[in-house]
Parts: sequence; C-alpha cells; structure tokens
Amino acid sequence: AIMPTLLSGIANGARQGILFKSGAQLEMMGKVRAIGFDKTGTLTTGKLAVTEVIPTTGHSVDEVLQIAAALEAYSEHPIGQAIVTAAQQKQIEIVPAVGVYSHPGQGIIGEVYQQQVLVGKFDFLIQNSKFKIQNLELTNNSPVRASLANSLTIQAYDFWSKPAPTTPDSRLPTPNSLVRAHSSAPLPTPELSQHLETEGKTVIWVARESEIIGIVAVADTLRPKAAEVIKHLKQLGIEETIVLTGDNQRTADRIARAVGIDRVYAELLPEDKVKVIRQLQGQYQTVAMVGDGINDAPALAQASVGIAMGVTGSDVALETADLVLMADRLEKLVVAIHLGRRSQRIIK
Ligand code: ADP
Ligand code: MG
Repeated sequence: AIMPTLLSGIANGARQGILFKSGAQLEMMGKVRAIGFDKTGTLTTGKLAVTEVIPTTGHSVDEVLQIAAALEAYSEHPIGQAIVTAAQQKQIEIVPAVGVYSHPGQGIIGEVYQQQVLVGKFDFLIQNSKFKIQNLELTNNSPVRASLANSLTIQAYDFWSKPAPTTPDSRLPTPNSLVRAHSSAPLPTPELSQHLETEGKTVIWVARESEIIGIVAVADTLRPKAAEVIKHLKQLGIEETIVLTGDNQRTADRIARAVGIDRVYAELLPEDKVKVIRQLQGQYQTVAMVGDGINDAPALAQASVGIAMGVTGSDVALETADLVLMADRLEKLVVAIHLGRRSQRIIK
C-alpha cells in the first residue's frame, strides 16, 4: 500500500498540473541528479514553420512543397505538419501518395505518381533510396551542391516575403554580396544547409527517384520559460542538463546555447537516446528524461524518471512516462523535484 505522505505528494502534484503515476516515481524524482531533454516539442514548442524552400536547378518551390507535402500529409511529426501547412498556405493541392512509411527520427518514404519520394535527413535519403542518388559525396565540387547553390541565387524563396523571384537574374550576386544584402539569406555552396542549421533551423531534403529536388528549412520557437527552467534546475543542485535529439549537431547546439543546457547529443536514433540515458545513469545513478515523441518513448522507459509533455506528447510517450507535465508546463519540473525531495524527508 502507498504511504499517505506519498499520496498527498501525488495529490499535491496533480493540483499543480503534475501527474505522477506512482509514489515510487515521486520519491525517485527527489533523487534526480541529471536531466535529459528532447529538443523538438520539449525545449521548443514543436510548432514548426517553414522558413525557406530552395529547389535545385530545374525544379520549383511549388513542386518541392507539393511532393514533400504528399508524404507528410501522413505524418504526425511537427516537421510534417509544418510542410503541409506551408503547402496549404500556398494553395498547393495535396496530391495522393501510396506506400507511405515513416522512419522515426529520420524521415518519410513513399510513392507519388508512381515515383519513389524520400523526405528527411540527407543520410536517410542516401541509405533508403532504391535509386542511386547522384553525387553522394557532398564535397565542395559536388554537382548536387553546385546545382543547389546555382538555383539558390536564382530561386531562393523566403517563405514569408513576397513575391518570390521568378526570373533568373543574369547578374547573380557573389556569395558575399548575397549575405550582405540579406543578413538572413542562406549561403550558397556547401555552406547552404549548414548556414540554415547554424540559425537553429532544421533542413529537410526532398528526393524523387534518383534526384534531389530541393530542401525545406523549418524553424521552431523556444518555449518561453525554457531558459528560466534550466537556471532553476541548476540552483536546485541538478548537476547536469543534457539535450538528446535526433536533429543535427548545429541546430541542437544553437538551441542548447540559447537555453543554457550543458551538453548536447545530436543525430540520435531512438535507440541511441536509450544508450545515452544508460551512460548518464552510470555517471549520476538517478537520471530523468523529458520528451514528447514516439522517438523518445524508449529513452523515457530507460530513464529513472520518464517525463512526458501532456499536450505535444504522443500517446506512446504519455503511456511510457512515469510523470506527465500537464499543459506542457516545463517549469513544473522544478515543483516536481521539490515534491519528490519533500516526500523523502517525510518518510525518513
Ligand atoms: P527530435 O529528437 O528533435 O524530437 P526527431 O528524432 O523526431 O527529432 O527527428 C530527427 C530528425 O529526423 C528531424 O530533425 C528530421 O531531420 C528527420 N525527420 C523525422 N521525421 C521526419 C518527417 N516526418 N519528415 C521529415 N524529416 C523527418
Ligand atoms: Mg520531440
């Protein structure tokens, strides 16, 4: 039977929008020494928006959005929703796709008009295409990159600024003047996607058959209280805060720096998140993990205390978690630790 003090701790949490699944979890929360955070939907709102659509030579912004949205219409991932919304805003018809299969933490694959389409990380495209995607090596001289750069100066389209340039400019600006002209404009050549990532955006690649037809950049917003929460956790004596994300290193670094997170693990598959949690448990014994996605569920299960976001949280994450933060109030983590520590003091 559960101790009355634990019950009152659980009730106290519930009143404040923190749902502990058991008294044991409440106690465990009082012992946490390090906390892992998922990025998208946890440190950020997960309400992503498309910021740039950049087709490769011979392709158009609308074409890239249409092909990507055809698959993403089947996805529950915030990236997918952002791409579908962008297509709808441009009144692009969502065309049918078949055999759509999503790979958590990597991307989505399917067929549109009987052609294979892949949308996601660059490596995912390369590894899962039944075609040999040309120019695998993204060296500086790679034709893929070159054509991307070339089309960028002609067609780069800032999604929020209208109208989009339609005619090729014969007097193409040099990379430097381009950057100077629009400080937020992406750089051509190999730095293009890297530059977008350094701004904290996520770059999604779109391939059809053997060809990369363009990239889509999506941006997220930090949860307003994220930085404050990390600061309070440190004041409470939490020894380390860590980001565990499937997204790329540059985007993750940018977000981590903005909120004051100590360490970053990027490009993780769901099973890699589990390994990192296990490793942290070796160092800190009691480790909490906060997440929202299907891709976080295994890590939430491995963590000493798995914590899910109540609103953005997927069903799997909610079911796996030991504790749920209602209304996605990240700041309630601080309260949860207080309640956990108090429950231990009373019992002893
Ligand atoms: P996070 O750990 O930040 O929540 P995920 O593990 O869900 O991120 O996804 C990691 C990466 O996988 C994304 O940044 C994206 O590049 C790619 N990805 C995942 N799902 C999709 C999708 N539906 N469409 C396109 N790319 C995707
Ligand atoms: Mg997430």
